[in-house]
Amino acid sequence: MANNDKIQLSFASRAIHLGYDSSTHEGSLNPPIYMTSTFAFDTVNQGADRFSGEDPGHFYSRISNPTQEILEKKLAGLEEGEAALATASGMGAISATLWTLVKPGDQILVDETLYGCTFSFMVHGLQKFGVEICFADFTDPDAIASNLDGKTTVVYFETPVNPNMRVVDIAAVSAIVKGYSDDIMIIVDNTYCTPALQRPLTLGADIVVHSATKYLGGHGDLIAGAVVSTATIVEQIRLYGVKDMTGAVISPMSAFLILRGVKTLALRMERHCQNAQILAEMLVCHPAVEKVFFPGLATDPWHLIASKQMDSFGGMLALELKKGFAGGVQMLNNLKLAKIAVSLGDAETLVQHPASMTHSTYSLEERQRHGITEGLVRISVGLEDIDDILWDFQQALATLVPEATSVPLGYTGKDS
Ligand SMILES: *Cc1c(COP(=O)(O)O)cnc(C)c1O
Repeated sequence: MANNDKIQLSFASRAIHLGYDSSTHEGSLNPPIYMTSTFAFDTVNQGADRFSGEDPGHFYSRISNPTQEILEKKLAGLEEGEAALATASGMGAISATLWTLVKPGDQILVDETLYGCTFSFMVHGLQKFGVEICFADFTDPDAIASNLDGKTTVVYFETPVNPNMRVVDIAAVSAIVKGYSDDIMIIVDNTYCTPALQRPLTLGADIVVHSATKYLGGHGDLIAGAVVSTATIVEQIRLYGVKDMTGAVISPMSAFLILRGVKTLALRMERHCQNAQILAEMLVCHPAVEKVFFPGLATDPWHLIASKQMDSFGGMLALELKKGFAGGVQMLNNLKLAKIAVSLGDAETLVQHPASMTHSTYSLEERQRHGITEGLVRISVGLEDIDDILWDFQQALATLVPEATSVPLGYTGKDS
Protein backbone atom coordinates (compact mmCIF):
# COMPACT_ATOMS: atom_id res chain seq x y z
CA MET A 1 0.00 0.00 0.00
CA ALA A 2 2.86 2.32 -0.88
CA ASN A 3 0.52 5.04 -2.18
CA ASN A 4 -1.62 4.95 0.91
CA ASP A 5 1.19 5.29 3.42
CA LYS A 6 -0.07 8.67 4.59
CA ILE A 7 -3.56 7.48 5.44
CA GLN A 8 -4.24 7.53 9.18
CA LEU A 9 -6.28 4.36 9.55
CA SER A 10 -9.24 4.45 11.90
CA PHE A 11 -9.17 2.68 15.25
CA ALA A 12 -11.18 -0.32 14.02
CA SER A 13 -8.79 -0.88 11.10
CA ARG A 14 -5.69 -0.46 13.26
CA ALA A 15 -7.11 -2.93 15.81
CA ILE A 16 -7.13 -5.49 13.00
CA HIS A 17 -3.86 -4.73 11.19
CA LEU A 18 -1.43 -3.01 13.55
CA GLY A 19 1.70 -4.79 14.78
CA TYR A 20 1.66 -7.74 12.40
CA ASP A 21 3.10 -8.19 8.91
CA SER A 22 2.03 -11.51 7.36
CA SER A 23 4.72 -11.25 4.67
CA THR A 24 7.39 -11.91 7.30
CA HIS A 25 5.50 -15.04 8.48
CA GLU A 26 5.09 -17.16 5.33
CA GLY A 27 1.96 -15.16 4.48
CA SER A 28 0.14 -16.60 7.48
CA LEU A 29 -2.90 -14.35 7.92
CA ASN A 30 -2.84 -14.93 11.67
CA PRO A 31 0.28 -14.62 13.81
CA PRO A 32 2.03 -17.86 14.70
CA ILE A 33 2.02 -18.99 18.32
CA TYR A 34 5.67 -19.40 19.29
CA MET A 35 5.47 -22.11 21.93
CA THR A 36 9.07 -21.92 23.04
CA SER A 37 10.78 -21.10 26.30
CA THR A 38 14.20 -20.36 24.83
CA PHE A 39 15.87 -19.21 21.58
CA ALA A 40 18.98 -20.79 20.06
CA PHE A 41 21.93 -18.56 19.22
CA ASP A 42 24.19 -19.05 16.18
CA THR A 43 27.30 -18.22 18.20
CA VAL A 44 28.36 -17.38 21.76
CA ASN A 45 28.88 -13.79 20.64
CA GLN A 46 25.32 -13.54 19.38
CA GLY A 47 24.04 -14.87 22.72
CA ALA A 48 26.11 -12.30 24.60
CA ASP A 49 24.76 -9.52 22.37
CA ARG A 50 21.17 -10.64 22.96
CA PHE A 51 21.70 -10.49 26.73
CA SER A 52 23.38 -7.08 26.61
CA GLY A 53 20.64 -5.70 24.38
CA GLU A 54 23.02 -4.94 21.51
CA ASP A 55 21.19 -7.51 19.39
CA PRO A 56 17.44 -6.89 19.83
CA GLY A 57 16.43 -10.55 19.22
CA HIS A 58 14.71 -12.80 21.73
CA PHE A 59 16.64 -15.01 24.16
CA TYR A 60 14.23 -16.34 26.80
CA SER A 61 10.42 -16.12 26.98
CA ARG A 62 10.35 -14.66 30.51
CA ILE A 63 11.68 -11.49 28.85
CA SER A 64 10.05 -11.57 25.40
CA ASN A 65 8.49 -13.87 22.81
CA PRO A 66 7.58 -13.16 19.16
CA THR A 67 3.81 -13.72 19.63
CA GLN A 68 3.85 -11.50 22.71
CA GLU A 69 5.81 -8.88 20.77
CA ILE A 70 3.12 -8.66 18.06
CA LEU A 71 0.49 -8.10 20.75
CA GLU A 72 2.64 -5.48 22.44
CA LYS A 73 3.08 -3.51 19.19
CA LYS A 74 -0.66 -3.57 18.62
CA LEU A 75 -1.56 -2.45 22.15
CA ALA A 76 1.08 0.31 22.16
CA GLY A 77 -0.34 1.68 18.90
CA LEU A 78 -3.97 1.52 20.01
CA GLU A 79 -3.23 3.29 23.32
CA GLU A 80 -1.04 5.83 21.44
CA GLY A 81 1.99 4.96 23.56
CA GLU A 82 5.55 4.17 22.46
CA ALA A 83 5.71 0.64 23.81
CA ALA A 84 3.74 -2.00 25.66
CA LEU A 85 4.37 -4.99 27.88
CA ALA A 86 1.90 -7.87 27.95
CA THR A 87 1.70 -9.74 31.27
CA ALA A 88 0.19 -12.84 32.86
CA SER A 89 -2.71 -10.95 34.44
CA GLY A 90 -3.99 -7.46 35.17
CA MET A 91 -2.59 -7.82 38.69
CA GLY A 92 0.71 -8.89 37.11
CA ALA A 93 0.74 -5.63 35.12
CA ILE A 94 -0.19 -3.50 38.14
CA SER A 95 2.19 -5.16 40.61
CA ALA A 96 5.13 -5.29 38.16
CA THR A 97 4.63 -1.58 37.41
CA LEU A 98 4.45 -0.51 41.04
CA TRP A 99 7.33 -2.73 42.20
CA THR A 100 9.43 -1.06 39.50
CA LEU A 101 8.49 2.51 40.40
CA VAL A 102 8.37 2.72 44.20
CA LYS A 103 10.77 2.26 47.13
CA PRO A 104 10.32 2.40 50.93
CA GLY A 105 9.41 5.90 52.10
CA ASP A 106 7.55 6.79 48.88
CA GLN A 107 3.90 7.75 48.89
CA ILE A 108 1.35 6.54 46.32
CA LEU A 109 -1.69 8.79 46.05
CA VAL A 110 -4.73 6.80 44.92
CA ASP A 111 -8.41 7.39 44.35
CA GLU A 112 -10.61 6.33 47.25
CA THR A 113 -12.14 3.43 45.30
CA LEU A 114 -10.06 0.78 43.54
CA TYR A 115 -10.56 -2.67 42.08
CA GLY A 116 -10.48 -5.09 45.06
CA CYS A 117 -7.14 -6.80 44.39
CA THR A 118 -5.42 -3.51 43.48
CA PHE A 119 -6.63 -2.22 46.86
CA SER A 120 -5.30 -5.26 48.72
CA PHE A 121 -1.98 -5.26 46.79
CA MET A 122 -1.41 -1.67 47.90
CA VAL A 123 -2.84 -1.71 51.42
CA HIS A 124 -2.03 -5.25 52.52
CA GLY A 125 1.04 -5.64 50.26
CA LEU A 126 3.12 -2.56 49.39
CA GLN A 127 2.35 -0.85 52.69
CA LYS A 128 4.08 -3.74 54.53
CA PHE A 129 7.27 -2.80 52.66
CA GLY A 130 7.25 0.82 53.79
CA VAL A 131 5.32 2.42 50.93
CA GLU A 132 2.67 4.84 52.15
CA ILE A 133 -0.76 4.58 50.48
CA CYS A 134 -2.75 7.81 50.65
CA PHE A 135 -6.41 7.89 49.56
CA ALA A 136 -8.19 10.95 48.18
CA ASP A 137 -11.44 11.58 46.32
CA PHE A 138 -10.07 12.09 42.79
CA THR A 139 -13.28 13.75 41.64
CA ASP A 140 -12.27 16.68 43.91
CA PRO A 141 -9.20 18.57 42.59
CA ASP A 142 -8.55 20.16 46.01
CA ALA A 143 -8.34 16.73 47.64
CA ILE A 144 -5.61 15.75 45.17
CA ALA A 145 -3.64 18.99 45.47
CA SER A 146 -3.66 18.96 49.28
CA ASN A 147 -2.37 15.38 49.46
CA LEU A 148 0.61 15.70 47.10
CA ASP A 149 3.91 16.00 48.91
CA GLY A 150 7.65 15.50 48.35
CA LYS A 151 7.30 11.77 48.91
CA THR A 152 4.62 11.25 46.22
CA THR A 153 6.08 9.23 43.36
CA VAL A 154 2.92 7.72 41.86
CA VAL A 155 -0.68 8.86 41.35
CA TYR A 156 -3.00 5.97 40.51
CA PHE A 157 -6.67 5.71 39.55
CA GLU A 158 -9.32 3.97 37.45
CA THR A 159 -12.03 5.67 35.43
CA PRO A 160 -14.87 4.81 35.36
CA VAL A 161 -14.18 3.44 38.83
CA ASN A 162 -14.83 -0.26 39.52
CA PRO A 163 -17.49 -0.85 40.87
CA ASN A 164 -19.32 2.41 41.66
CA MET A 165 -18.94 4.12 38.24
CA ARG A 166 -17.54 7.46 39.44
CA VAL A 167 -15.66 9.18 36.63
CA VAL A 168 -12.28 10.90 37.17
CA ASP A 169 -11.27 13.77 34.87
CA ILE A 170 -7.94 12.47 33.51
CA ALA A 171 -6.78 15.78 31.99
CA ALA A 172 -7.67 17.75 35.14
CA VAL A 173 -5.87 15.32 37.48
CA SER A 174 -2.83 15.28 35.15
CA ALA A 175 -2.66 19.08 35.11
CA ILE A 176 -2.75 19.29 38.92
CA VAL A 177 -0.15 16.56 39.42
CA LYS A 178 2.25 17.76 36.70
CA GLY A 179 1.84 21.32 37.95
CA TYR A 180 3.15 20.08 41.30
CA SER A 181 5.98 17.92 39.93
CA ASP A 182 6.91 16.52 36.53
CA ASP A 183 8.53 13.51 38.21
CA ILE A 184 5.33 11.99 39.61
CA MET A 185 4.10 9.09 37.46
CA ILE A 186 0.38 9.15 36.67
CA ILE A 187 -1.02 5.64 36.16
CA VAL A 188 -4.52 5.01 34.81
CA ASP A 189 -6.22 1.60 34.84
CA ASN A 190 -8.04 1.68 31.47
CA THR A 191 -9.66 -1.77 31.78
CA TYR A 192 -13.27 -0.50 31.78
CA CYS A 193 -12.88 1.57 28.59
CA THR A 194 -10.10 0.02 26.52
CA PRO A 195 -8.42 2.34 23.98
CA ALA A 196 -11.54 1.96 21.83
CA LEU A 197 -13.30 4.44 24.18
CA GLN A 198 -10.57 6.32 26.05
CA ARG A 199 -6.83 6.95 25.60
CA PRO A 200 -5.39 8.28 28.89
CA LEU A 201 -1.86 8.81 27.50
CA THR A 202 -3.26 11.51 25.20
CA LEU A 203 -4.82 13.24 28.23
CA GLY A 204 -1.65 13.54 30.30
CA ALA A 205 -1.22 10.14 31.97
CA ASP A 206 2.25 8.51 31.89
CA ILE A 207 1.31 4.84 32.13
CA VAL A 208 -1.81 2.83 31.25
CA VAL A 209 -2.43 -0.56 32.84
CA HIS A 210 -4.99 -3.13 31.73
CA SER A 211 -6.63 -6.31 32.74
CA ALA A 212 -6.64 -7.86 29.25
CA THR A 213 -8.78 -10.61 30.78
CA LYS A 214 -11.75 -8.29 30.24
CA TYR A 215 -12.70 -6.42 27.03
CA LEU A 216 -9.33 -6.77 25.24
CA GLY A 217 -9.54 -10.57 25.28
CA GLY A 218 -13.29 -10.20 25.19
CA HIS A 219 -14.33 -13.84 25.39
CA GLY A 220 -13.70 -14.83 29.00
CA ASP A 221 -11.22 -17.52 28.01
CA LEU A 222 -7.92 -16.20 29.42
CA ILE A 223 -6.21 -14.20 32.18
CA ALA A 224 -3.76 -11.51 31.04
CA GLY A 225 -2.72 -7.88 31.46
CA ALA A 226 -0.76 -5.09 29.84
CA VAL A 227 1.21 -1.91 30.53
CA VAL A 228 1.60 0.88 27.95
CA SER A 229 3.97 3.84 28.29
CA THR A 230 7.24 5.22 26.89
CA ALA A 231 9.80 2.71 25.61
CA THR A 232 12.11 3.52 28.55
CA ILE A 233 9.49 2.95 31.26
CA VAL A 234 8.14 -0.21 29.60
CA GLU A 235 11.67 -1.63 29.33
CA GLN A 236 12.27 -0.96 33.05
CA ILE A 237 9.04 -2.72 33.98
CA ARG A 238 9.91 -5.63 31.68
CA LEU A 239 13.41 -6.06 33.16
CA TYR A 240 12.71 -5.34 36.85
CA GLY A 241 8.98 -5.72 37.42
CA VAL A 242 8.39 -8.85 35.34
CA LYS A 243 11.81 -10.49 34.73
CA ASP A 244 13.17 -10.06 38.28
CA MET A 245 10.31 -9.39 40.66
CA THR A 246 6.98 -10.92 39.70
CA GLY A 247 7.70 -13.32 36.82
CA ALA A 248 4.20 -12.40 35.60
CA VAL A 249 4.88 -13.60 32.05
CA ILE A 250 2.07 -13.94 29.52
CA SER A 251 1.83 -17.28 27.70
CA PRO A 252 2.13 -17.22 23.88
CA MET A 253 -1.32 -18.86 23.69
CA SER A 254 -2.93 -16.06 25.71
CA ALA A 255 -1.13 -13.46 23.60
CA PHE A 256 -2.59 -15.11 20.48
CA LEU A 257 -6.11 -15.19 21.94
CA ILE A 258 -5.93 -11.48 22.80
CA LEU A 259 -4.70 -10.72 19.28
CA ARG A 260 -7.76 -12.59 17.99
CA GLY A 261 -10.06 -10.78 20.41
CA VAL A 262 -8.73 -7.30 19.63
CA LYS A 263 -9.65 -7.70 15.94
CA THR A 264 -13.30 -7.27 16.96
CA LEU A 265 -12.72 -4.83 19.82
CA ALA A 266 -14.26 -1.79 18.11
CA LEU A 267 -17.29 -3.77 16.98
CA ARG A 268 -17.80 -5.36 20.38
CA MET A 269 -17.39 -2.12 22.33
CA GLU A 270 -19.97 -0.43 20.12
CA ARG A 271 -22.54 -3.14 20.92
CA HIS A 272 -21.61 -3.29 24.64
CA CYS A 273 -22.14 0.49 24.84
CA GLN A 274 -25.47 0.40 22.97
CA ASN A 275 -26.83 -2.43 25.10
CA ALA A 276 -25.70 -0.81 28.36
CA GLN A 277 -27.32 2.51 27.41
CA ILE A 278 -30.70 0.88 26.66
CA LEU A 279 -30.56 -1.32 29.77
CA ALA A 280 -29.64 1.67 31.98
CA GLU A 281 -32.56 3.69 30.58
CA MET A 282 -34.97 0.85 31.35
CA LEU A 283 -33.57 0.28 34.86
CA VAL A 284 -33.63 3.94 35.87
CA CYS A 285 -37.41 4.00 35.32
CA HIS A 286 -38.12 0.67 37.01
CA PRO A 287 -40.13 0.85 40.26
CA ALA A 288 -37.87 -1.72 42.01
CA VAL A 289 -34.71 0.29 41.31
CA GLU A 290 -33.44 2.94 43.71
CA LYS A 291 -30.50 4.24 41.67
CA VAL A 292 -28.58 3.46 38.48
CA PHE A 293 -24.90 4.37 38.16
CA PHE A 294 -24.06 4.82 34.48
CA PRO A 295 -22.30 7.86 32.95
CA GLY A 296 -24.39 7.60 29.78
CA LEU A 297 -27.52 8.79 31.64
CA ALA A 298 -27.96 12.56 31.20
CA THR A 299 -28.87 12.74 34.91
CA ASP A 300 -25.65 11.03 36.02
CA PRO A 301 -23.32 13.38 37.98
CA TRP A 302 -20.36 12.25 35.82
CA HIS A 303 -22.12 12.57 32.45
CA LEU A 304 -20.29 15.74 31.33
CA ILE A 305 -16.78 14.61 32.23
CA ALA A 306 -17.47 11.23 30.66
CA SER A 307 -18.74 12.91 27.46
CA LYS A 308 -15.52 14.93 27.33
CA GLN A 309 -12.99 12.12 27.74
CA MET A 310 -14.78 8.96 26.57
CA ASP A 311 -15.88 8.28 22.98
CA SER A 312 -18.87 6.38 24.36
CA PHE A 313 -20.06 5.45 27.86
CA GLY A 314 -18.97 1.83 28.12
CA GLY A 315 -20.66 -1.44 28.86
CA MET A 316 -20.52 -1.42 32.66
CA LEU A 317 -23.20 -0.20 35.02
CA ALA A 318 -24.16 -0.56 38.65
CA LEU A 319 -27.43 -0.24 40.52
CA GLU A 320 -28.99 -0.13 43.96
CA LEU A 321 -32.38 -1.69 44.47
CA LYS A 322 -35.06 -0.23 46.75
CA LYS A 323 -34.92 -3.47 48.72
CA GLY A 324 -31.15 -3.09 49.16
CA PHE A 325 -28.91 -6.11 49.61
CA ALA A 326 -31.80 -8.60 49.96
CA GLY A 327 -33.36 -7.22 46.77
CA GLY A 328 -30.05 -7.62 44.95
CA VAL A 329 -29.77 -11.25 46.00
CA GLN A 330 -33.34 -11.89 44.86
CA MET A 331 -32.79 -10.24 41.47
CA LEU A 332 -29.53 -12.11 40.82
CA ASN A 333 -31.02 -15.46 41.78
CA ASN A 334 -33.96 -14.88 39.42
CA LEU A 335 -31.96 -13.96 36.30
CA LYS A 336 -32.37 -16.60 33.60
CA LEU A 337 -30.03 -15.38 30.83
CA ALA A 338 -27.40 -13.28 32.61
CA LYS A 339 -24.78 -15.23 34.55
CA ILE A 340 -23.86 -14.63 38.18
CA ALA A 341 -20.12 -14.24 37.78
CA VAL A 342 -17.27 -11.84 38.45
CA SER A 343 -15.08 -10.54 35.60
CA LEU A 344 -16.44 -8.33 32.85
CA GLY A 345 -16.23 -7.55 29.17
CA ASP A 346 -17.37 -10.97 27.97
CA ALA A 347 -20.02 -11.79 25.36
CA GLU A 348 -22.26 -13.03 28.19
CA THR A 349 -24.00 -10.51 30.46
CA LEU A 350 -22.38 -10.99 33.89
CA VAL A 351 -23.88 -9.80 37.15
CA GLN A 352 -22.15 -9.79 40.53
CA HIS A 353 -22.35 -8.42 44.05
CA PRO A 354 -19.10 -6.47 44.79
CA ALA A 355 -19.43 -6.47 48.61
CA SER A 356 -19.42 -10.28 48.77
CA MET A 357 -17.34 -10.95 45.64
CA THR A 358 -14.84 -8.64 43.84
CA HIS A 359 -14.59 -6.13 46.69
CA SER A 360 -14.70 -8.57 49.62
CA THR A 361 -10.95 -7.83 49.83
CA TYR A 362 -12.11 -4.67 51.66
CA SER A 363 -13.44 -5.08 55.22
CA LEU A 364 -17.01 -3.84 55.84
CA GLU A 365 -15.57 -0.74 57.47
CA GLU A 366 -13.18 -0.19 54.52
CA ARG A 367 -16.05 -0.58 52.03
CA GLN A 368 -18.05 2.06 53.88
CA ARG A 369 -15.06 4.41 53.90
CA HIS A 370 -14.27 3.77 50.22
CA GLY A 371 -17.75 4.22 48.73
CA ILE A 372 -18.78 0.60 48.05
CA THR A 373 -22.30 0.11 49.39
CA GLU A 374 -23.52 -3.31 50.54
CA GLY A 375 -26.51 -3.36 48.16
CA LEU A 376 -24.59 -2.41 45.00
CA VAL A 377 -25.05 -4.78 42.04
CA ARG A 378 -22.55 -4.60 39.15
CA ILE A 379 -23.57 -5.51 35.62
CA SER A 380 -21.24 -6.20 32.70
CA VAL A 381 -23.70 -5.82 29.83
CA GLY A 382 -22.97 -8.48 27.22
CA LEU A 383 -23.46 -8.88 23.50
CA GLU A 384 -26.78 -10.75 23.58
CA ASP A 385 -29.76 -9.24 21.73
CA ILE A 386 -30.90 -6.24 23.78
CA ASP A 387 -34.51 -7.47 23.77
CA ASP A 388 -33.43 -10.65 25.53
CA ILE A 389 -31.35 -8.74 28.08
CA LEU A 390 -34.28 -6.39 28.81
CA TRP A 391 -36.65 -9.34 29.14
CA ASP A 392 -34.32 -11.06 31.60
CA PHE A 393 -33.91 -8.07 33.92
CA GLN A 394 -37.60 -7.20 33.73
CA GLN A 395 -38.71 -10.69 34.69
CA ALA A 396 -36.15 -10.83 37.55
CA LEU A 397 -37.13 -7.37 38.83
CA ALA A 398 -40.83 -8.22 38.54
CA THR A 399 -40.35 -10.65 41.44
CA LEU A 400 -39.50 -7.62 43.60
CA VAL A 401 -42.57 -5.54 42.66
CA PRO A 402 -45.24 -8.06 41.66
CA GLU A 403 -47.84 -5.28 41.53
CA ALA A 404 -45.96 -3.28 38.84
CA THR A 405 -46.49 -3.65 35.11
CA SER A 406 -43.74 -5.49 33.27
CA VAL A 407 -42.92 -2.54 31.00
CA PRO A 408 -42.09 0.49 33.13
CA LEU A 409 -42.95 4.05 32.16
CA GLY A 410 -40.20 5.84 30.29
CA TYR A 411 -39.00 2.64 28.70
CA THR A 412 -36.96 3.59 25.64
CA GLY A 413 -35.69 0.25 24.37
CA LYS A 414 -36.84 -1.49 21.24
CA ASP A 415 -40.23 -3.14 21.51
CA SER A 416 -40.00 -6.71 22.72
C1 LIG B 1 -10.08 -7.46 36.67
C2 LIG B 1 -9.45 -6.14 36.94
C3 LIG B 1 -8.10 -6.05 37.34
C4 LIG B 1 -7.26 -7.28 37.59
O1 LIG B 1 -7.01 -8.00 36.42
P1 LIG B 1 -6.75 -9.61 36.37
O2 LIG B 1 -6.56 -9.85 34.92
O3 LIG B 1 -7.95 -10.28 36.96
O4 LIG B 1 -5.51 -9.86 37.19
C5 LIG B 1 -7.57 -4.79 37.53
N1 LIG B 1 -8.31 -3.68 37.35
C6 LIG B 1 -9.60 -3.72 36.98
C7 LIG B 1 -10.36 -2.45 36.79
C8 LIG B 1 -10.22 -4.95 36.77
O5 LIG B 1 -11.52 -4.99 36.42
